[in-house]
Amino acid sequence: MTFSGFSGCDFHLEGYSLGGIETAIMVPQWKLALDLGRGRRPFIRCDHIALTHTHMDHAGGLAYVLSLRQLFRMKPPKVYVPSRAADSLRAMLDAWGPLQRHELVCDLVPVEPGERYELRKGLWLEPFRTRHVLPSVGYTVTRETEKLRPELADAPREEIVRLRESGAPVTRPIRDRLLSFTGDTLPEALDDDAGWASARVVIHEATFLDDSKPYEACRAGGHTHLRDLMERAHLFTGDHVVLSHFSQVHRWRDIPGLLRPFAQQISGALYALPTIEAGEMVGPIE
Ligand SMILES: [Zn+2]
Ligand SMILES: [Zn+2]
Repeated sequence: MTFSGFSGCDFHLEGYSLGGIETAIMVPQWKLALDLGRGRRPFIRCDHIALTHTHMDHAGGLAYVLSLRQLFRMKPPKVYVPSRAADSLRAMLDAWGPLQRHELVCDLVPVEPGERYELRKGLWLEPFRTRHVLPSVGYTVTRETEKLRPELADAPREEIVRLRESGAPVTRPIRDRLLSFTGDTLPEALDDDAGWASARVVIHEATFLDDSKPYEACRAGGHTHLRDLMERAHLFTGDHVVLSHFSQVHRWRDIPGLLRPFAQQISGALYALPTIEAGEMVGPIE
């Protein structure tokens, strides 16, 4: 799936997600993977691989992608992972060394919510807290630009130049939340701090959408039910919301209808991420 239809956004998404099977999303403009799924070949383009957690359907392809990048003599990527999972992930990668007679090389970055990591000048990866059945984070990508301080908006140019030369601050940083991605989480991640849900594009998991499975089973797996999102619809204040990670109990053709009540609750446009590689984004859902 390639989707570039988010109005007001200068980036596009590639990827797809099916709960328990594979979640892999990429922003080619930033060379950024948000989870890696089984490690399909297009993902070797990513110099930054941000893992929300280490379940196989999100991170299983890491060793393969690293190996392919080495085969093609690409530089070692940065691999961001929740700090409490970093040692085990390192051990897994190291175990491949003797198995394939060459080391898997990457720059493993253990991440914590509240920290931020520069993807490129002015573009930051910011982990936020999520709640799953093992260590997990979500990620927001923000862009920081310097804007003229508002009190100088009407000042003559010479005055601004004079101030700048004197060392006085004439600009201030403006932070734009571009994209948030939750990975797998219980809905309480929204209750902790929903600031990330105001991003221009928010990709949130919605594993179960109706009563095909008991609600308690959804919670036991550390997942979000559409019912949970309905209760928190007011927290989604951005322009575009993408739901993903649908369970296999749902048929793809039923999903737009199941999501319609939520679409009517949020101010922005609602989309459904496809469940197969060749699928297309559905939305805006009316
Ligand atoms: Zn998952
Ligand atoms: Zn998971």
